[in-house]
Amino acid sequence: WLIASLAVGATLAWLIIRVFRARLSLDGELRRAIRRDEIGVAYQPIVDLETRACVGAEALARWHLHGAAIAPDVFIVAAEHNGLIRALTDRVLERIVRELGDFLEAHRDFYVSINVSAEDLTSRRFLDVLTRTLGRTEIRAAQIRIEATERGFIDADAAREVLKAFREAGHPIYIDDFGTGYSSLSYLQTLPVDVLKIDKSFVDTIGYEAVSSSVAPHIIEIGRALGLGVVAEGVEREDQARYLIERGARYAQGWLFSKALPAEALVRFVQGPAAV
Ligand code: C2E
Ligand code: CA
Ligand code: CA
Ligand code: CA
Repeated sequence: WLIASLAVGATLAWLIIRVFRARLSLDGELRRAIRRDEIGVAYQPIVDLETRACVGAEALARWHLHGAAIAPDVFIVAAEHNGLIRALTDRVLERIVRELGDFLEAHRDFYVSINVSAEDLTSRRFLDVLTRTLGRTEIRAAQIRIEATERGFIDADAAREVLKAFREAGHPIYIDDFGTGYSSLSYLQTLPVDVLKIDKSFVDTIGYEAVSSSVAPHIIEIGRALGLGVVAEGVEREDQARYLIERGARYAQGWLFSKALPAEALVRFVQGPAAV
């Protein structure tokens, strides 16, 4: 009896330790997921507002742990803090090429944008990975675009140099979440930039708040003045789409058009109902 209860106690203790360890080891789980190539990618269509044609897609990292989806806002931030983000960025790129490489080679005007973190902009490391990876394919550099947030490089001369190198290699540069950072205007002129992405927060308020809904048209105007493209994100309603078109925006993404999709579903989306 003593041995039996000792065994039960030990098993219980072991179980409890395991549960706690699992909770504490998100970092460990993430490291393992990256190593085992378990980070998925969902592709959100980017459409031409006039024609609704899908011209490209944004690659968004996805992670399921024990069956539950972990939000990118959680695991990306974790990866940025625990040194895993570079490996994660590499994995996302590998997967884009694996899942959509043939499609990109066959549709040479279609592009995929990839989110990079501040760490990816401290050196040319990721650019070298990207160049080497695309060198094994027929994908054009312009088909892989770089999304960087203002947070990621403001004040950083290194980031400016790295972004310049991406651009010289043929990769268009998108400023993500534009308008949510600081001193957006002064540094814009000194940065190598091709496209501004209007943050979802400025699209959300369209039609509701007179004051903040006026931010989106200003960004469109800045884009025009500086000769940059503009993509609005988080478009959920027709009135937002109409408002953006009327003020001169050409491209957008959002649930009105499509949520982020697995690669095969993206390909079906691009080809439209006629191709099904
Ligand atoms: P983000 O780059 O601003 O991406 C847009 C986010 O808005 C995505 O959330 C997308 O699913 C969501 N979204 C798009 N359209 C709509 C809409 O109409 N309504 C609503 N409510 N949401 C919409 P997600 O996938 O959760 O990603 C969150 C953030 O995580 C991204 O924000 C990006 O900053 C980061 N992230 C995602 N994947 C990666 C990655 O591979 N690398 C890095 N460095 N960051 C990533
Ligand atoms: Ca983005
Ligand atoms: Ca964004
Ligand atoms: Ca955003």
